[in-house]
Amino acid sequence: MSDKNYRIETKCVQGGYTPGNGEPRQIPIIQSTTFKYATSADMGKLFDLEASGYFYSRLQNPTCDTVAAKICEMEGGTAAMLTSSGQAASFFAVFNIAGAGDHIVSSSTIYGGTYNLFSVTMKRMGIDFTFVDPDCSEEELNAAFRPNTKAVFGETIANPALVVLDIEKFANAAHAHGVPLIIDNTFATPVNCRPFEWGADIVTHSTTKYMDGHGAAVGGCIVDSGKFDWNAHADKFPGLTTPDESYHGVIYTERFGLGGAYITKATAQLMRDLGSIQAPQNAFLLNMGLESLHVRMQRHCENAAAVAKFLSTHEKIAWVSHASLPGDKYHDRAQKYMPMGTCGVISFGVKGGRAAAEAFMGHLKLAAIETHVADARTCCLHPASATHRQMNDAELAAAGVSPDLVRLSCGLESADDLIADIAQALEQI
Ligand SMILES: *Cc1c(COP(=O)(O)O)cnc(C)c1O
Repeated sequence: MSDKNYRIETKCVQGGYTPGNGEPRQIPIIQSTTFKYATSADMGKLFDLEASGYFYSRLQNPTCDTVAAKICEMEGGTAAMLTSSGQAASFFAVFNIAGAGDHIVSSSTIYGGTYNLFSVTMKRMGIDFTFVDPDCSEEELNAAFRPNTKAVFGETIANPALVVLDIEKFANAAHAHGVPLIIDNTFATPVNCRPFEWGADIVTHSTTKYMDGHGAAVGGCIVDSGKFDWNAHADKFPGLTTPDESYHGVIYTERFGLGGAYITKATAQLMRDLGSIQAPQNAFLLNMGLESLHVRMQRHCENAAAVAKFLSTHEKIAWVSHASLPGDKYHDRAQKYMPMGTCGVISFGVKGGRAAAEAFMGHLKLAAIETHVADARTCCLHPASATHRQMNDAELAAAGVSPDLVRLSCGLESADDLIADIAQALEQI
């Protein structure tokens, strides 16, 4: 199905795969490491990127490509690839255009794992990051750029701070400095927000979350909008605009155009060398999740809105954050970027701080304590003592995580049952 005019619901169900006569209705799982060819010459053309086809599943696999094509349609991009995890997607998305001696501007309110990847591991690789408050002024944002800046990074809805990013502000600043904007769209999903429509150039996902939706398979995805003109800033992106000696001198922008250069390089170079592929079996499970993503997102958002409303009037709750609440700091911005809803994750503070938050969580029966978010079952987490425990108080504050913050990921259960469970747990503290 290549009709770009289909609505998001139709793309969720049928995007990426159109079986021919007598072919399987469900996408086939091609559980094969390798692919057969009649002559060495045939295979040589694939290695030289002169013909397209499969030869080894570390680089490309038909099942993974089918699911990547669906997510590509959902985001409105030109090319996409699956990765083994969301972490691999974030790493590849940045490392594909930045190396030792380069610099990245990132929102400070990002997923804890991404913050670690950037500030510790990629820093050790020689890439410098400047973290900016996502609500900073345009002047402050522009001041973060350096001559060696190669990209800007942010999250549509920050996990767990729930900051809704002003995507246009970030896109304008990135483009004024000749670099692309990379957006982690995990929490909103393309059902609720499509960052390319607001100027983003590259989108990443942890498909482990809503896209899979059942807590069944870890995975990631990178989508390219095809809109960023690498040639107009060729000196900044030599990896895309000059010959790749590890691939017979191919110049990615010349051979694959603006629509294909970025993902082809990430596949032919990074996936070849680092091998963080998504297993075909996991891609199949991911596709099952995608088929109902639009139905589930609506319900996740409805449940979260009902729970947030209940908490906002409870005497034992200090504060609640969910953009569905009319008084929420990000309500208006969410109305602009994601009018259908934001996500099923809410955060709040229990009066009495850290100890009260932990006691409250211990009394919940439906919501399990997990590091996970965004699947069918409701779960909760105290980030300051779990995912963000490596951060000091100043770093926690910059990441938008207060010590009393409880993150609650509302699943697909009955909202009434979830509220009753929260009410009885609050009663006991
Ligand atoms: C979970 C998450 C990631 C990391 O994804 P994994 O699949 O766990 O590697 C990245 N970004 C966001 C927003 C996430 O929630």
